[in-house]
Amino acid sequence: MNIILLGPPGAGKGTQSARLVEHHGMRQLSTGDMLRAAVAAQTSIGLRAKAVMDAGELVSDEIVSALIDAELLALPERAGAIFDGYPRTAHQAEQLDGILEKHNRQLHRVIELEVDEEALVRRISGRFSCAECGAGYHDEFILPQVPGTCDRCGAHEFKRRPDDNEHTVRKRLQLYRSETAPILPLYEQRGIVSRIDGMAPVDEVYRMIVKLIGTPSEHH
Ligand code: ADP
Ligand code: ADP
Ligand code: ZN
Repeated sequence: MNIILLGPPGAGKGTQSARLVEHHGMRQLSTGDMLRAAVAAQTSIGLRAKAVMDAGELVSDEIVSALIDAELLALPERAGAIFDGYPRTAHQAEQLDGILEKHNRQLHRVIELEVDEEALVRRISGRFSCAECGAGYHDEFILPQVPGTCDRCGAHEFKRRPDDNEHTVRKRLQLYRSETAPILPLYEQRGIVSRIDGMAPVDEVYRMIVKLIGTPSEHH
């Protein structure tokens, strides 16, 4: 099972991907995470991408598609892929078709998480994560059970993304509408698009996704 999780910044793609990885044995391929790792490691890609990301603009199609291609090469054949935050442009969608063919994988479903704009700004403004293991939290909606302590790994250090500010979020939302949403019709023609109410609580969104893709045993 290979799926695309599509949705504007803050829709819950990373949150739902983490659950699918943990409970469903899938692998998350997040171009945002890959780019942040490249920035942290100060690779040549990272050095080029940093300013673009901080401004809420899109990194080049060639760079992100090359990252996805490399990650797929390293993915065990039987592991299902979750494409999180990729593709984001019509050209990337075209490149993904070629990459999937090369790796002998099929795209089974495109799941769009729908969340209204003001909620997105609120979600992104309150987003933070564990500095140690990356577990995601929110100032109002998803706080650690013991204040200041990560539920998953027990660490006490947290971090926020430099691009998670209201100004940049508006820019990213605008790019989602102009560049990313227009790729949906392509997948609609193939009959593989499902829309899910991303305003629902995390558990409920997860249940709806699992209902769509089936439990892991159904894939064998
Ligand atoms: P994306 O990967 O789509 O940008 P995230 O998964 O990082 O989005 O979620 C954005 C923020 O909203 C995070 O702080 C996360 O904890 C929170 N969040 C995610 N899903 C929900 C939900 N269903 N209800 C409330 N808050 C959520
Ligand atoms: P979010 O889910 O909150 O929108 P991501 O972590 O997916 O954020 O992406 C963060 C930033 O990384 C984007 O604003 C963009 O600059 C860059 N980026 C990530 N994925 C892509 C992509 N597929 N194409 C172009 N740029 C990307
Ligand atoms: Zn942690």
